[in-house]
Amino acid sequence: MSVRLNPAVLPAATETLRQQVRDFVSAELAAKRFLPGCDKWLGGFDLEFSKRLAVNGWLGMTWPKQYGGHERSALDRYVVTEELLAAGAPVAAHWVGDRQSGPSLLRYGTEQQKQKYLPAMASGEHYFAIGMSEPGSGSDLASARTKADKIEGGWLLNGRKIWCSSAHRVDSFILFCRTQPLSDDRHAGLSQFLVDLKSPGITIRPIHLLSGEHHFNEVIIDNVEVGDDCLLGKEGDGWAQVTSELAFERSGPERFLSTFPALVALLKRLGQDADRGQQLVIGRMVAQLRALRGMSVSVAAALDRGEAPNVEAALVKDLGTRFEGDMVEQIRLLLETQPEYGSDDELDRLLAESFLHMPGFTLRGGTNEILRGVVARGLGLR
Ligand SMILES: Cc1cc2nc3c(=O)[nH]c(=O)nc-3n(C[C@H](O)[C@H](O)[C@H](O)COP(=O)(O)OP(=O)(O)OC[C@H]3O[C@@H](n4cnc5c(N)ncnc54)[C@H](O)[C@@H]3O)c2cc1C
Repeated sequence: MSVRLNPAVLPAATETLRQQVRDFVSAELAAKRFLPGCDKWLGGFDLEFSKRLAVNGWLGMTWPKQYGGHERSALDRYVVTEELLAAGAPVAAHWVGDRQSGPSLLRYGTEQQKQKYLPAMASGEHYFAIGMSEPGSGSDLASARTKADKIEGGWLLNGRKIWCSSAHRVDSFILFCRTQPLSDDRHAGLSQFLVDLKSPGITIRPIHLLSGEHHFNEVIIDNVEVGDDCLLGKEGDGWAQVTSELAFERSGPERFLSTFPALVALLKRLGQDADRGQQLVIGRMVAQLRALRGMSVSVAAALDRGEAPNVEAALVKDLGTRFEGDMVEQIRLLLETQPEYGSDDELDRLLAESFLHMPGFTLRGGTNEILRGVVARGLGLR
């Protein structure tokens, strides 16, 4: 097997859409509806902003019209997401649902589940979180101990999930758990459930980021009863389902654009005054960014053709998440600056946000060490 990153060009028609998104962002900024930030796809939770995107048809873009979607291509969606990321817009509320819970529902959900969730997600009225990781079970997801026991008409859920982004603010999460005891086949007996986060028996406890922000959570699941209609897909097929969900989770432009607003702020600060050394560093960063973007568009085009570029997506995520961290460190070294959280100076503020969020870049969505293992296996090296 080899890595295939065929050059791909976004169709010319996407430029009209790109301009529409830029116009929308300019109007939002002019109305002071948001302050551009770094890592806002994780930390910028703004329900009203997400709803305004929905009004423009930019949530559930690729989903069928019968479920509230807009039947646009994955490349159209790519253009919208990259413009919003580049602008540092607060897109965290809908990000997970739009990126992976919705596509999973489309693929594995029953007709009733699709009708229940998808139109509400596309109109910005229902939001999702991810319930995969557990204390002691992150990279080794198959060791999950949260379990679902069969009861009359449904399931009884018990366990503990951790690092659940925005679980304290959204409506539901997809819970990954055991429905059969661990056996020799570690990937067997796992399933997914659609769980209302307001259910009796759910306790959500905050875990604060270095910046003090309450972003993610520990979720305790204590005798939570759900109906049979909450099982997503087939009982026992959870591993295959969660793996295909991870392909969506890993392949987007958020894996190299989290700190892009800091680069824009640097260029604004330097204006025409960049010295030769600064020009060289900026040139190198922009060249790397350009290459990563080319690779990422290639992955998006492959997904649009219905392929499963898992190895390529892992490669882009490993390179991209290292780049977005390295970039802000290089910017810090380029000038006399004092990163300060909440500073009135845009660059100082954006650098501080980036540094305080940076430890998570190479962890979330699967650590880089694990991704390199995926790439090595894909290349037949292990
Ligand atoms: C900002 C952020 C948001 C997140 N949001 C969510 C969320 O919404 N929902 C959710 O379920 N999870 C979420 N996570 C959790 C994330 O998916 C896990 O942190 C990640 O999968 C790693 O698991 P872990 O933290 O248990 O680390 P571990 O698996 O314990 O890894 C610790 C270290 O050991 C290394 N390591 C482990 N196994 C191997 C191996 N086989 N080979 C080489 N090195 C290895 C890892 O690379 C890492 O450096 C989030 C994490 C972050 C940082």
